[in-house]
Amino acid sequence: CTFLSGGKPVRAVDGVSLDIEAGEFFTLLGPSGSGKTTCLRMIGGFTLPTEGSIRIHGQEMAQHPPYARPVNTVFQDYALFPHMTLTENVAYALMVRGVARAERERRAGELLERVRLSGMGVRKPAQLSGGQRQRVALARALISQPQVLLLDEPLGALDLKLREQMQSELKSLQRQLGITFIFVTHDQHEALSMSDRIGVFHQGRIEQVATPSELYDRPSTRFVAEFVGTANLLERDDARRLGGRAASMIRPERIRLGGAEGARTSGQVAELQYFGSFWRLRVERAGASPLLADVAQTGDTPPPPGATVHLHWDAEAMHA
Ligand code: ADP
Ligand code: MG
Repeated sequence: CTFLSGGKPVRAVDGVSLDIEAGEFFTLLGPSGSGKTTCLRMIGGFTLPTEGSIRIHGQEMAQHPPYARPVNTVFQDYALFPHMTLTENVAYALMVRGVARAERERRAGELLERVRLSGMGVRKPAQLSGGQRQRVALARALISQPQVLLLDEPLGALDLKLREQMQSELKSLQRQLGITFIFVTHDQHEALSMSDRIGVFHQGRIEQVATPSELYDRPSTRFVAEFVGTANLLERDDARRLGGRAASMIRPERIRLGGAEGARTSGQVAELQYFGSFWRLRVERAGASPLLADVAQTGDTPPPPGATVHLHWDAEAMHA
């Protein structure tokens, strides 16, 4: 998908090819500007691809305007109608289609109950918290019974605690409904904890499509290794000295402290960072890049800055 920006072409999405299964929770993960929203808008029909095609349940969508596609979108800013009650907001799509008032109020009521807002139908959006508004937007998108729900950073405006709560609510709602969710986020924690599969976007291209654990344990590119989780990257010569074959990655939590004997490498603690459940040590090594090692918080004091430590890990913790 190419846009013209100030007369110059901008390739927002470049040769992306994706198969998403029916009923899947699929996440498009990537940094800002990597093409996630453009992809979602092409699926929704708001942006037309310059090349290629989009099929939903086998059907070509090119001739289908947004309202005629079996999809609906939850936008980041929710885009609720401020002058309408929650019931009217949720029932809006039915009203446009001429469904009788009693029927649309009944169905809106059912959906408000599903998102745990029963009895609040007479309120206006301004009388709700951020998390509640989010749930109204969800109910409004679900009322037209889409086969695919598109969600563009829907939790971005919420604070951390609420975001985590909504993550598990969204996930269980998706399981109950059995419809396909295509979810956009730049937050790797969100992607890892909610998705069946994740496509990692980088500069308009997809770097890897995999399950959360595959992505984390076996990233296929350097970009994915660094974008998803924290990674120690070892250049080829360093990796070879440490028991690997090629340039490799090792996660900080796979490194253990131990005795000098059998250690893969040793160094001095340069910095300690406290994360509550673990300490992150930055270990400097002579003539090689520093390594991050996470030490579980067990009540013992970790080695102080300046202390010499010996690092151990299992061979399979190193990923080429
Ligand atoms: P993301 O959602 O991953 O942050 P976007 O899909 O919004 O990324 O944008 C991808 C790239 O395309 C960015 O470089 C952005 O500036 C550009 N882009 C998006 N929409 C337009 C547009 N309508 N006109 C010109 N450039 C655009
Ligand atoms: Mg975006």
